[in-house]
Amino acid sequence: MEAATASFPFVGKSVEFKPKYEHFIGGEWVKPSNGEYFENISPINGQPFTQAARGTKADIELALDAAHKAFPSWSKTSAASRSNMLNKIAQVIEDNLEYLATIETIDNGKAIRECMAADLPLVIDHFRYFAGVIRADESTISEHDENTVSIALHEPLGVVGQIIPWNFPLLMATWKVAPALAAGNCIVVKPAEQTPTSIMCLMELIDGILPPGVLNVVTGFGPEAGKPLATSPRVAKVSFTGETTTGRLIMQYASENLVPVTMELGGKSPNVFMKSVGDADDEFFDKAVEGAVMFALNQGEVCTCPSRMLVHEDIYDKFMERVIARTKAIKMGNPLDPSTMMGAQASNDQYEKIMSYLNIGKEEGAQVLCGGAKFSQNSGLEEGYYVQPTIFKGHNKMRVFQEEIFGPVVAVTTFKTTEEAIEIANDTMYGLGAGLWTRDAHEIYQVPRAIQAGRVWINNYHAYPAHAPFGGYKKSGFGRENHKMMLDHYRQTKNMLISYDKKKLGFF
Ligand code: NAD
Repeated sequence: MEAATASFPFVGKSVEFKPKYEHFIGGEWVKPSNGEYFENISPINGQPFTQAARGTKADIELALDAAHKAFPSWSKTSAASRSNMLNKIAQVIEDNLEYLATIETIDNGKAIRECMAADLPLVIDHFRYFAGVIRADESTISEHDENTVSIALHEPLGVVGQIIPWNFPLLMATWKVAPALAAGNCIVVKPAEQTPTSIMCLMELIDGILPPGVLNVVTGFGPEAGKPLATSPRVAKVSFTGETTTGRLIMQYASENLVPVTMELGGKSPNVFMKSVGDADDEFFDKAVEGAVMFALNQGEVCTCPSRMLVHEDIYDKFMERVIARTKAIKMGNPLDPSTMMGAQASNDQYEKIMSYLNIGKEEGAQVLCGGAKFSQNSGLEEGYYVQPTIFKGHNKMRVFQEEIFGPVVAVTTFKTTEEAIEIANDTMYGLGAGLWTRDAHEIYQVPRAIQAGRVWINNYHAYPAHAPFGGYKKSGFGRENHKMMLDHYRQTKNMLISYDKKKLGFF
């Protein structure tokens, strides 16, 4: 297929895209059954740079056919050979790290320096982690008595459907794909319509490593391509990451077929700064300041964005002076420039949503401590989706404290006692992430125990190692991703109870 060079103001690089990306089904590039494509717009300059196949039920059915055809032999491969294939995928990604980071940045708008230092290394690490743990995983054999043996054997679920969001396109896909493959499943993936390209470029690179039909990717919109996947009676599981409202729909679809779901949903994570931070040495204080500014990581488009900052009233003035100065020093610009710290929001819809929340915050009386407006770009990027990192001051009942904005916006409030901090932290429908900053050994254990969230970072934030279980409490979802426990979400247990006794029981 003819290649097109993207016309971005690259910083010393040029990238070629196909004019159109087809679905990847059964190891081949397959045109959409209705012949339709949609434009993929880069948030960097608001211009289309390629097109993606607009998938429908017919394409999902084709992908399910391919996956079902591949499953009988794939499910019988040894853990060692699956492990080797996952390691090969990791190696290809490592060898093409800068290329993939560039594509991901063009597709999503995120700063390439984060993509190179975090997203892609984590993608590689998750493939290697699941390549490793599947080798160490064993079926359990136990003796019931001297004549009876119980074997608990793991079997893959079958063909699974995976629906991906746009905020970390490659990483969110990897969190699902790596454990599902390791456990011996075949997969149909539906990437987000805002970011369909990077995963297709990855498929080009890893084409041939897996047998045809094991990993299929169908691009398209939620109701047109996601729904037929989530409602299909031919999937054994639906794994979803996205908004809480969409998650509710996906659960309804899956309940019709009585298949399990994993839900990784939204958040409104508290980041709590205790009084002892004020007494800490300069180095720790500075680290805590950076921990507060982590709300701007990935332009705030992180499910665990520390979007509510709770600061002890005794340290508020000293601490916030530094936080505001650090936030104002964030270098915005072309995300392809390695010195840019914050790039563009992922889509125009997302940009508009954030801008509307900037108004909502002002209208409900929150004080703007910094930011609060569009960030104006130049040099051909005027149409890109840039928002200034923004700090509001207010109280926890405000909408900017309660609703997920999914942008570079943090709402700060104060507290007097530990009990009050915990009460505010838990006063949300979400329970995904939380941060605690303290020098007090008791608080390090007691406060995280009291916070209702699946992940509490203590004296750090936004680390996502493959071996640490990740997932939500409350309306942030259920099931966990990462960690070897994830394998159990992608398989079932066959128990074989074997009697070696020649004597009958004597009941009949
Ligand atoms: P979204 O729910 O709009 O879309 C997610 C995916 O679902 C997309 O692929 C979309 O096409 C698909 N979809 C939409 N409607 C559908 C339908 N009716 N049937 C089937 N599929 C459908 O979410 P988003 O805007 O892409 O992502 C942002 C959200 O994701 C935020 O709420 C964020 O907190 C959440 N998120 C959570 C985690 C986590 O691990 N908990 C991680 C990343 C993002």
